[in-house]
Amino acid sequence: MKVSILVIQILAFEPKIYKNIVIHKSLKLTRTCGINCKTQQRILTYKCVNLQKIRNIMNVLLLGSGGREHALAWKIAKSPQLENLFIAPGNAGTLAHGMNVDLNPEDFDGLANFVSDHKISMIVVGPEAPLVNGIRDYFDQRPQFADVSVIGPSKAGAMLEGSKAFAKVFMQKYKIPTAAYKTFGVGETSQGHEFLERLKPPYVLKADGLAAGKGVIITEDLAEAKQNLSEMIDQAKFGEAGSKVVIEEFLEGIEVSVFVLTDGKHYILLPEAKDYKRIGEGDTGKNTGGMGSISPVPFANKAFMQKVEERIIKPTIEGLQKEEIHYQGFIFFGLMNVDGNPWVIEYNCRLGDPESEAVIPCIKSDLLDLFGAVKNQDLDKHSIEFDERHAAAIFLVSGGYPDAYEKGKIITGLDSVEGSLVFHAGTKVFDAKIVSSGGRVLAITSLGENMEEALAKSYANAGRIEFEGKNYRKDLGQDLLHF
Ligand code: AMP
Repeated sequence: MKVSILVIQILAFEPKIYKNIVIHKSLKLTRTCGINCKTQQRILTYKCVNLQKIRNIMNVLLLGSGGREHALAWKIAKSPQLENLFIAPGNAGTLAHGMNVDLNPEDFDGLANFVSDHKISMIVVGPEAPLVNGIRDYFDQRPQFADVSVIGPSKAGAMLEGSKAFAKVFMQKYKIPTAAYKTFGVGETSQGHEFLERLKPPYVLKADGLAAGKGVIITEDLAEAKQNLSEMIDQAKFGEAGSKVVIEEFLEGIEVSVFVLTDGKHYILLPEAKDYKRIGEGDTGKNTGGMGSISPVPFANKAFMQKVEERIIKPTIEGLQKEEIHYQGFIFFGLMNVDGNPWVIEYNCRLGDPESEAVIPCIKSDLLDLFGAVKNQDLDKHSIEFDERHAAAIFLVSGGYPDAYEKGKIITGLDSVEGSLVFHAGTKVFDAKIVSSGGRVLAITSLGENMEEALAKSYANAGRIEFEGKNYRKDLGQDLLHF
């Protein structure tokens, strides 16, 4: 009796549940209370056996290797519910928060062996490809993984991103505002050409499936639009992904990315963000994976966000339920603000990158606690706390990116960063040094009382980090100053 009271006291006194702290505390208490060695042993045994159950400590496997995953790893590692974090495959930055494992996020059998061997109870999926390929269904269908929760939707849910045609039909069915469209498949190229002739430029063509962010073509030129349609359908320009093409009306406005975490019934709205896609200042030049992001977004005021929730988020969650689509994870709504009204440009079945690098640092609540609520479908009983400050994430990219660029450049100055977070994207450790390994190399995130302050901190630190060919946009947020 005395023992269990003492253990409860230990657990109650010590909100942090790191093993050593609890052990240390128990020893201190036993000394003060004069409890003998045997009792002390029993306390420790009790702790070892039951602590995981009592406090729900878990081993987590995070999938992915970009800046989004570094931001997730940084946040997950802060959770008192975490025992061990593994990142597959991770990058040089994620090493600071867990153990990188050399596994392909799309090798489900390999992941399954790892999950069994390392007693993983939660898999957090960063990128879309494993979700679209059915990672959740894979684990759900195997009884030995009944206790493993996957943060991310089923294959059917991931179709919101995996098939543009599916997403359009879904939006039309549930009266969610989106651009007018038609879908064309194999044998329908000439009908597609006729449809294009009836539209006004610019023409928007979207490969139906995943095309590594390159499947959208927007052109003012009708002949070019027609040629692209033929190449996509008849010459497999984007492989299987382009065998069906959505042609849609061009929406004129300004974009914003909105995120929710849903347990399938309820949802929590995260701070919105705006990303910068083009390589050049003033939004010029080629598209990239993202040159940075800002959160919150000034024009996404209360009235606008209310429209987003009523016209888009709620009908989407309800639609998924009506379709009996299992969705427990993030939904990313890529929206266009057209004269104060939100329209859906795209759905994604995961968090955005570079938006995550601005949004995740603004979440004050314990992410694993929220993920637990997603699993238990009781998100409605949880509130989420945010840092009310503004966030700015700017990307340092390799010289030449998004065209050909060199890798393996030694990165220096990371230790001299002050007052910002650095999230690694394209980095790895080589010869005990951190070197670039991708086009988008590092995101520098800062929080400030306003957007200008957040940006100024990130830009000051962008000057402190060096690698050959370093490039970044110096105009982030400028387009938002007049809102
Ligand atoms: P998506 O992959 O669907 O997000 O498209 C990539 C980008 O193309 C979007 O972020 C927009 O900038 C642009 N875009 C896509 N669809 C439209 C549209 N209907 N009207 C205007 N711009 C669009």
